[in-house]
Amino acid sequence: MDDLGVDVLLVSLGADLPYLTGYEAMPLERLTMLVVPRDDEATLVVPRLEAPRVVERPEAFTVLPWDETDDPVGIVAKLSGTPGVAAIGDRTWARFLVDLVASLPGTAWRKGSEVTSPLRSVKDDAEIRALRRASAAADRVATQLQSGQIPLVGRTEHEVSQDIGHRLVDEGHVRVNFAIVAAGEHAASPHHEPGERVIGRDEVVLCDFGGTMPDGYCSDITRCVWTGGEPTAEMRDLYAVLQDAQAQAVDAATVGTPCEDVDGVARRLITEGGYGAHFIHRTGHGIGLEEHEDPYLVGGNCERLVPGHAFSIEPGIYLAGRVGARIEDIVIASDAGPESLNHVTHDLVVVDA
Ligand code: ZN
Ligand code: ZN
Ligand code: ZN
Repeated sequence: MDDLGVDVLLVSLGADLPYLTGYEAMPLERLTMLVVPRDDEATLVVPRLEAPRVVERPEAFTVLPWDETDDPVGIVAKLSGTPGVAAIGDRTWARFLVDLVASLPGTAWRKGSEVTSPLRSVKDDAEIRALRRASAAADRVATQLQSGQIPLVGRTEHEVSQDIGHRLVDEGHVRVNFAIVAAGEHAASPHHEPGERVIGRDEVVLCDFGGTMPDGYCSDITRCVWTGGEPTAEMRDLYAVLQDAQAQAVDAATVGTPCEDVDGVARRLITEGGYGAHFIHRTGHGIGLEEHEDPYLVGGNCERLVPGHAFSIEPGIYLAGRVGARIEDIVIASDAGPESLNHVTHDLVVVDA
């Protein structure tokens, strides 16, 4: 806040609040807001009926419950003083921001992520251990997929997606964030919504799944399997290019490397392989308390990797209407080199399932 000239930080919904206080606010029409003045104590303004859920941390913040007939925006404005610059959490509902802007005339507003992202994107040792546990749990489900324990042929994408979700919970997640299952031509749509299409023999099944662990940290992995016999020549060629690009992008994710250069490595190899026009998204995203957060491995992001940055590396190749593939690992940047947290094979495994 000193560096950015921010006089008060206001944090409401989203992961910033649990990151700073251990408390996650429900997305409600009643305002919950942590008020952090630059030079004063922090106060958590919380609806009276939510207050019992707050685990008090007197060394970090004071809890101030408000009653049904109080004006919580007025309380927050008063605690804020007359800030020249206020930073407000990116996920705060617009209705509260609109009222706060009216209550604090003369205040300039910035995004809270300008303050919190540099903190949250660099993971400490405990956070890295949490991400390792999350990835290990996702790996166990990926192992079940690759070993043929998850039935595929004859089931719908939706059924397999539900199955994968249950397995994520069985392996230790408390919440399933997504379980994309895309068969055959559907694998050409990166965020395909699993539907009623029945999975057949001799086709690719792209599975991209992840969840949240009890401590709040997330997993995210993508593996592709082939049902039945030998993959087509087109698929084998595409996959070989993709697998090499993914592995080399992981190797390139060293401390000091600009994020966009990691993306550039994957993009160059896929372009040289003849599929440049079919790699239609960035190479990766940060991960932590949220499944997508800073830093983003994307052209134009010249931020350099530092030890503790945690992110996905997930290039894909998508041939519209025909076939597609993506390979995704979570990787930590460290002085010892990039550490991939996912250890299951990257090969296009042929499964009899
Ligand atoms: Zn995605
Ligand atoms: Zn994913
Ligand atoms: Zn991802």
